[in-house]
Amino acid sequence: MPKIGSIRFERSREFNGRILNATITKTATEKYFVSLCVEEDIANNLRQNDGGQIGLDVGLKEFCTDNYGNTIANPKPLHRLNKKLTKAQRKLSRRKLDSHNRNRQRIILARVYEKITNTRKDFLHKLTTQLCRENQTIAVESLNVQGMMRNHKLAQAIADVSWGEFFRQLQYKAILYGCEVIKVPTFYPSSQMCCNCGYKNSQTKDLSVRQWTCPKCGTAHDRDQNAAINILHKALALKNSA
Ligand SMILES: [Zn+2]
Repeated sequence: MPKIGSIRFERSREFNGRILNATITKTATEKYFVSLCVEEDIANNLRQNDGGQIGLDVGLKEFCTDNYGNTIANPKPLHRLNKKLTKAQRKLSRRKLDSHNRNRQRIILARVYEKITNTRKDFLHKLTTQLCRENQTIAVESLNVQGMMRNHKLAQAIADVSWGEFFRQLQYKAILYGCEVIKVPTFYPSSQMCCNCGYKNSQTKDLSVRQWTCPKCGTAHDRDQNAAINILHKALALKNSA
C-alpha cells in the first residue's frame, strides 16, 4: 500500500483482473477492510442457472413463500437483538463523556449493530444466490418499499426484513447467472384471485385469513402460495406479451 507499505490480510475471494484502486476502511468495531476495485471481463465470470421458474410472495411474518409452497422464515435480526441493543445503548448514555469506559461501551454497541447487519446480509446473500443459481425466471412483486416505510407501524419491521437490499442483490446476481427478474405491478390482486380458475375473492382482504377455498372451483388455497403462483403467472404473461 502507498505510504504504509506491506500489510498482512485475509483474502475473501479470488479475482482475475487489473486492480484500479484500493480503499481501506475501519468499522466502528475497529476492524479494517481493504476493498479493491478490479477491472474484470464479465464474460469470464458468467455462470449457468438450472433453468427453473419461481414466483415469490414476500411478507413480514415469513420472508417469502414460493409457488411450490415452500416458505422461507424471516431471520428478523433487529427484533431478535432489540433487548441487547437497548441495553447497550442505555449503558452508553450513562458513561461519562470522553472516558475510557465510554469508548469501550461504544465498541460493544457497535458490535451489536454489526451482528444485526451481518446476519441480514448473510441471509440475503445465500438466498439470492440460490434463487439465481436455480432459476431462469424469477417473478416478484414490484413493491414500493420507500412508500411502505412511511407507515410508521411497519417501518421498523420492513427495514429489518430489508426487501430493498433483497431486490438489489437479485438484480445484480441475475446478470451473472443470466436469469430474468420480472417485477409484477402491486395493484395486481395476487392474493385475492384463485390461481386455478381466476375467480376474484372479495372476502379475504383480511391479512389474518391464511387459508381459503375458492367458491367457484373448490380449490383449497394457502394465501401466500396462491399469491406466488399468481405472481409467476402474471410475470410469464408479461414476458410473452413483451
Ligand atoms: Zn377457483
